[in-house]
Amino acid sequence: MKEKRVLAEPFKIKMVEPLRITTEVYRTKVLESAGYNPFLIDASDVFIDLLTDSGTGSMSDRQWAGIMMGDESYAGARSWKRLEQVVKNLTGMPYIIPTHQGRAAERILYGILGGADKVFLSNTHFDTTRANIEFTGAQALDLMPDDALDPEIDLPFKGNIDISKVNAKISELGKERVAAIIITVTNNSSGGQPVSMQNVKDLRKICNKHGIPLVIDGCRIAENSYFVKHRESGYENKTYFQIAKEMLSLGDAFIMSAKKDGLVNIGGLLTLKDEELALECKNLLIISEGFTTYGGLAGRDMEAMAIGLEEVFDEDYLSYRIRSTEYLGKHLKQLGIPVVWPIGGHAVYVDAKKLYPDVPVDQYPGQVLVCDLYTKGGVRSVEIGSVMFGKYDDHGILIPAPNELVRLAIPRRVYTQSHIDYLIEIFDDIIKDSRATSGFKIIYEPPFLRHFTARFGKIS
Ligand SMILES: *Cc1c(COP(=O)(O)O)cnc(C)c1O
Repeated sequence: MKEKRVLAEPFKIKMVEPLRITTEVYRTKVLESAGYNPFLIDASDVFIDLLTDSGTGSMSDRQWAGIMMGDESYAGARSWKRLEQVVKNLTGMPYIIPTHQGRAAERILYGILGGADKVFLSNTHFDTTRANIEFTGAQALDLMPDDALDPEIDLPFKGNIDISKVNAKISELGKERVAAIIITVTNNSSGGQPVSMQNVKDLRKICNKHGIPLVIDGCRIAENSYFVKHRESGYENKTYFQIAKEMLSLGDAFIMSAKKDGLVNIGGLLTLKDEELALECKNLLIISEGFTTYGGLAGRDMEAMAIGLEEVFDEDYLSYRIRSTEYLGKHLKQLGIPVVWPIGGHAVYVDAKKLYPDVPVDQYPGQVLVCDLYTKGGVRSVEIGSVMFGKYDDHGILIPAPNELVRLAIPRRVYTQSHIDYLIEIFDDIIKDSRATSGFKIIYEPPFLRHFTARFGKIS
């Protein structure tokens, strides 16, 4: 059947949360008092919130019904049994550990595998992954193919790890120093780009040869399966669930933030094949998260997660999810907005350096776009450039990030196509109006993770 031009959402709405419509004059004041940092704006002053896709999705009626059915017993709750069964079936792994978020699973596993002198290899370590690894004294190395770093090159699996770089690193370091290989699917920090099944199979062979554990950071394993089915030969006739199951079967461990493809607002998972390692992890879990059958979650959270992990593989849902992200990206590209290409699974990235060619990098063109989007449309986005990753040299001169991007992350099942069309219209205004030629200076910044709380002043 021919795909329809209009992408109608495969759900109808039975509960609504009102959004406040504000004026440009009002938003200008709000932004000014927030020091031009949208992280410091109240959510009630935002019309369309694209800050993150993490924990911001809508649950289905089945999930809300599950919330009412949650079993809050401390040990061996019915909701835990249900979640454990669903996750065992998906991963094929025998040891399932619930956690309150993905980073809790990371802290536990990498706390055991890491340590001074150890090295982790990944396509791209997500920031909490890197932080948990470096906290143990270990090193986290990103091994992307060189061509995949080009924002415009069109590759079907632009999230892949570079297999020859992995082999070279293992020979250089010696296999004893390599604590684990972590494959992040989809590759969040590189634009939500997918990883191919072949890439994970190749890693499996390397890990077998050297006795190195393979960890799958699969927060977006369902979205990745969509790309495998439609882009990798041999998978056309498999279901999304079968593809995810096959990929997870290649790992020794699986870590997930259920705030993404778990379709819930809170929750995480750590699953393992090795009994001894699982025992060690469970001991750490009990100290900091909770007993092994709830791990920091309420029974109702586990019930909703069990249902979400089944719903996320629904064919209509996944095709709506990926195609609606692509819809935004394609329309922006048609307007002449420079976007990172191809479009990934959960977000669209705009190249602000190209969009504001007259704003110098040390005046943060990404922040200029973030502020324009808020003032013109009440849209909240996030700068992923020199505000987030910039450093200073010994003379206090900015060492800029490699790119000045702005991320538009799409919450799951939250906004309709008309919200997205509205957003496209805001971009149309931005590209047609005369664009800023100057940007911002930082007037306050904390020593770590400055993008969250920094305050800016306008340079005129
Ligand atoms: C979100 C995320 C995490 C961390 O999960 P939290 O639930 O936010 O703690 C880890 N890895 C990847 C790839 C993620 O996207």
